[in-house]
Amino acid sequence: MNKINYLTHLPIVETFHSVQGEGTWMGTNAFFIRLAGCDVGCPWCDTKISWNVKKHPEIAIADLVAEAVNADPAIVVITGGEPLMHDLTELTQQLKAKGLQVHLETSGSHPFSGKFDWVTFSPKQFKHPHASIYEQVSELKVVVKDESDLDWAEKNAARIPHNVVKYLQSEWETSSSKDLVLQYVLSHSDWRVSIQTHKLLGVR
Ligand code: SF4
Repeated sequence: MNKINYLTHLPIVETFHSVQGEGTWMGTNAFFIRLAGCDVGCPWCDTKISWNVKKHPEIAIADLVAEAVNADPAIVVITGGEPLMHDLTELTQQLKAKGLQVHLETSGSHPFSGKFDWVTFSPKQFKHPHASIYEQVSELKVVVKDESDLDWAEKNAARIPHNVVKYLQSEWETSSSKDLVLQYVLSHSDWRVSIQTHKLLGVR
């Protein structure tokens, strides 16, 4: 297989037009670009299909941008997989040149690239974040399965600016994690509960 030319193409799992289901921009008209490739390995990952980059087509950046423009969304969300496995400079430059507002969802496990209007940082214990993410964070969102994730959340919160909004999100399949998150937020007023409304609504 030829090496991907990241200046012109990126490996893509899917694109779709929906609403942002989580965080500060919840409910916003959004065009999603899901990049292929992830080496973080979260056991509860709901997008394992994205992990193997070789299983997904390389799509021209110009075509992705045209699709996003055509959808006419309020925001474009670059997600994955782990999007920072790829150099996002060209994609974000082209999207912004069209006047689009560009958001990123990342575990921060690879060096930062690209220009964004909003960065959702969701650090994972399975592959620790690269130092370059911490000055880019717009909101912090930590998935909680057990108590160790609360320590992990605080460790990462200590490295981001004080005014960044911090969310805890219970792991969808683990019912005990819902209580853990609720109790923690009730006793730590600087944290908020994150809810995956797209799953409640039955949309993507
Ligand atoms: Fe899945 Fe995201 Fe974890 Fe990668 S970082 S394994 S895509 S949940």
